[in-house]
Amino acid sequence: MNNQFPQKIEFLADRALQKSRALFETLEEVSFYNTQKILSAFREHKISEYHFRNTSGYGYGDAGREKLDEIWADIFESEAALVRGHFVSGTHALASVLFGILRSGDEIIAVTGTPYDTMQTVIGLKKPVSGSLLDIGVQYKEVAMLDTGVDLAEVAKSVTAKTRMVLIQRSRGYSLRPPLSVQDIAAVCKCVKAKNPHCICFVDNCYGEFVEKKEPSGVGADIIAGSLIKNPGGGIATSGGYVAGKADLVKLAAARLTAPGLGAELGASVGGNRLFYQGLFLAPHVTIQALKSAIFASVLFADMGYNTLPSADQKRSDIIQAIELGSAEKMVAFCQGLQNWSPVDAYVRPEPGDIPGYTDKVIMAGGTFVQGSSIELSADGPIRPPYVVYLQGGLTFEHAVLGVKGAAAAILAI
Ligand SMILES: *Cc1c(COP(=O)(O)O)cnc(C)c1O
Repeated sequence: MNNQFPQKIEFLADRALQKSRALFETLEEVSFYNTQKILSAFREHKISEYHFRNTSGYGYGDAGREKLDEIWADIFESEAALVRGHFVSGTHALASVLFGILRSGDEIIAVTGTPYDTMQTVIGLKKPVSGSLLDIGVQYKEVAMLDTGVDLAEVAKSVTAKTRMVLIQRSRGYSLRPPLSVQDIAAVCKCVKAKNPHCICFVDNCYGEFVEKKEPSGVGADIIAGSLIKNPGGGIATSGGYVAGKADLVKLAAARLTAPGLGAELGASVGGNRLFYQGLFLAPHVTIQALKSAIFASVLFADMGYNTLPSADQKRSDIIQAIELGSAEKMVAFCQGLQNWSPVDAYVRPEPGDIPGYTDKVIMAGGTFVQGSSIELSADGPIRPPYVVYLQGGLTFEHAVLGVKGAAAAILAI
């Protein structure tokens, strides 16, 4: 495989780099701020090597696990947190909150439109799913988003005294709607609480961590959850998820993760916690690497004539960059070009394939060290009009620039 880029790509990429750099300053300020926040928590809680060791069996009194929960709670400005490798994915962490808190007959309203694909299955939206929220008798409603954001008027109308929870998804997920800023989330929570102060505001925080200085749990969300193989794992946590929020609610999620009565008190850190601590330490920096990568891709592909969402200079609240390529062929080329510049499986050529839960074929590029990690440079998308590829991650900006150039070169070569 030829490792050199065509001259046209080198020219366009150099120009895109120059344009992008002007936009990086504010990002670095966020990274400084969040790094400082994390170091303060580590210092305050006297984190030392002792907390990295592994434990076995029940894992009673596992200081590494307990301290991790405490610093996480501080960093996310919440009363309590549950950070566990025992969560198999972000979806599992999110589901633990839903099933831990909601009971048969309770009402939940998704106020940011149809949730992320895997959450649709958890809810039981598309087809009956045994053990889903709908199956256990939870009532579900949805408020569609407007082009301008959350439909607050409709949310105010829908939330009543009987609404137990609202689900707020921060990231765009695999849709073209804009992500919610932390400030937007604050406004949604305020609107919900004005109608029903007891209604629980639950935020799916996936892809949003450390993109801004504040987190939803610091501005009115009662509970949040996310994945450790996205932003807050810093690219080196090897699996897991987290929940953070009001202590009584986190306790319910913990009882669901383990068992009623056991909660957060058990759970051995079989592989130790070092990678969680180290990943959290790296997370603000790595998240900004991913944001720089997204901005570079947005500039480059906009210059090549494609619609990019967000545009380069738009304010960001998640790390996803959508690029409307307009054809299946270009989506495939993009992913193959990106894959070719991956550190792992660079020789593999991704092809569109069937994935459970999706109606259309999906193409994915991601030669990652941690399987499926999307804080590492990756791209995917369902093969359907308007043929949008979703790009995210990048542990180092240098790698992302090469990967994105590879994707651009593959498209030019069609
Ligand atoms: C990634 C993600 C999830 C959870 O996905 P997992 O692959 O299970 O970690 C949920 N919601 C959103 C918006 C996501 O981006």
